[in-house]
Amino acid sequence: MIPEMDQYKTRQDIPESFKWNLNLMYPTPQDWEADFARVESAIVSVERFKGRLCHSAHTLHEAFEEQSKLDLLIERLYSYAHHLSDEDTRNSENLGRVDRIRSKAADAGARLSWMDPELLEAPMEILKGFHVDPVLVNHARRIELLIRSKPHQRSAEVEEVLSLASEPLGVAYKTFSLLENADMKIPHAKDAEGKEHELNHGSYSACLESSDRVLRKNAFETYFGAYAQYQNTFAATLDAHVKKQIFYAKTRRFQSAIEASLFSDQIPVGVYHGLIDTVHQHLPLLHRWVSLKKRELKLPEMQLYDLFYPMVKPAKVEIPYEQGCKLVAEAVRPLGEDYAKTLESAFHERWIDVFYTPGKRGGAYSGGMYTSKPYILLNHKNNLNSTFTLAHELGHSLHSYYSNRYQPYQTASYPIFLAEVASTTNEMLLHFYLNERADSKEMKLYLLDHLFTQFRGTLYRQVQFAEFERDIHAMAEKGIPLTAQTLSETYAAIQAKFYGPDMVMHDLVKYEWTRIPHFYYNFYVYKYSTSFAAAQYFAKKIFEGDTAVRDLYLDFLKSGSSRDPLETLKKAGVDLRDSKPIEAAFKVFEEALNEFERTR
Ligand SMILES: [Zn+2]
Repeated sequence: MIPEMDQYKTRQDIPESFKWNLNLMYPTPQDWEADFARVESAIVSVERFKGRLCHSAHTLHEAFEEQSKLDLLIERLYSYAHHLSDEDTRNSENLGRVDRIRSKAADAGARLSWMDPELLEAPMEILKGFHVDPVLVNHARRIELLIRSKPHQRSAEVEEVLSLASEPLGVAYKTFSLLENADMKIPHAKDAEGKEHELNHGSYSACLESSDRVLRKNAFETYFGAYAQYQNTFAATLDAHVKKQIFYAKTRRFQSAIEASLFSDQIPVGVYHGLIDTVHQHLPLLHRWVSLKKRELKLPEMQLYDLFYPMVKPAKVEIPYEQGCKLVAEAVRPLGEDYAKTLESAFHERWIDVFYTPGKRGGAYSGGMYTSKPYILLNHKNNLNSTFTLAHELGHSLHSYYSNRYQPYQTASYPIFLAEVASTTNEMLLHFYLNERADSKEMKLYLLDHLFTQFRGTLYRQVQFAEFERDIHAMAEKGIPLTAQTLSETYAAIQAKFYGPDMVMHDLVKYEWTRIPHFYYNFYVYKYSTSFAAAQYFAKKIFEGDTAVRDLYLDFLKSGSSRDPLETLKKAGVDLRDSKPIEAAFKVFEEALNEFERTR
């Protein structure tokens, strides 16, 4: 956080037009209270269907509709409470509201947990009948997913044991998180002048972006050194997590942990392997980038702690927020009139909370719910990076806007697998727009460097993680023990393969797996890479004026979770069962490398 760039001391100082308008959800906190008081009776309205869900399609429809009403109510209460609380996380009244709705939602979840099991106990013919019954048309997708999971449902007795086991089996991640966030003490790191810098998860990455190589090195060695000290404990928590996944896969009758994990999105395991293979084939491009960076930074050797320091100093252009909005609005013009107009409404309908003030939640996100505006929280600085963040979050919000508008509530929210497509497409459209108009060499190189960072961080790094995750599960499934040593060896081999001959492997790099929380998220990170690659395809075609692709893309934005994610993308022209879309993304990376070297 650079203090001089935070223009406002308190929220009262900020003009209304730069603050989101949560009053559109609830005019006053009293209105929130009135809705909160309705939750209990809404739960009871669903509870009264217990034991008779499958009596008829009509009864099931009624039950589902009541449940949807309850869900909408809870979402709205929660959404308002947490957005308001994020304005100032120190405000205990706001926190209290978040706590109350959270525990009410947990209560509702527990009291209605009989619903899916009750449906799954019904004979298959009954479920298939419900699936095609016109009365249940808005709920067909939910029933389809239930039918699909039925072969993996166990007897009532086994299910009971599994549900009792879920809490103790969840301890691995809890231990990991407590160790790194509460117990582990990380010493300070010294910079070239001997000044001490406090290291925590936030400040560590800031140190790595420093131009002071001594600080970068010290920060890296101190930080990784702290993790390395607990390598055996971290190995035990990761081992326990992997074993948990294998346990669930076996009890639910899947061939492997990876198959079990990809099942809910219906992603064939081959797509996962294919992604890794295609990235392997394009590792020479990453190696070329490493050499380029080493040359540009005039480094005697390239180390992991040099990766995050930009090759090009952030172009010293001040971009006031309003100008950033204009740039983004201009950049998305190729998406057509309706998209551009909707994006503009984000500004004048006040979807966005723009500036930092003390106590505000950090980072940026797009949120909201089905019947609210797709609100955006930013901590905007008047620079290019923040303008890219604005484009990114608007991508998410417009995706939500269109899916909410064109889908019934039940299929409106898009799956994680597709979540980063729209955000990355917008960022890329902004990139192409700015790149075409860049009037200085410095600006052009800065934009390309920014793009390289995205490719390295989203495509290469996430696939590197995905490969590690796949390999350690396979090792455990073969009975190879996951210890600090085997995990570190596996990690080091993948790291060396990815970064190539110009990257020196510091002895501590092999411990990086100890600090990656995503390894506890269950085959999650590859979704960033596939989303990113699909977005490269869309953005390039749309920027080049391909209106057929644009129209398919706009339909994609309207599709929510109405189909399996691979089908949704395929309908839009991106078939991830084939390696071509990923290869096309690498073409963009290669062209950017060529352009950088030409411009230099
Ligand atoms: Zn995002």
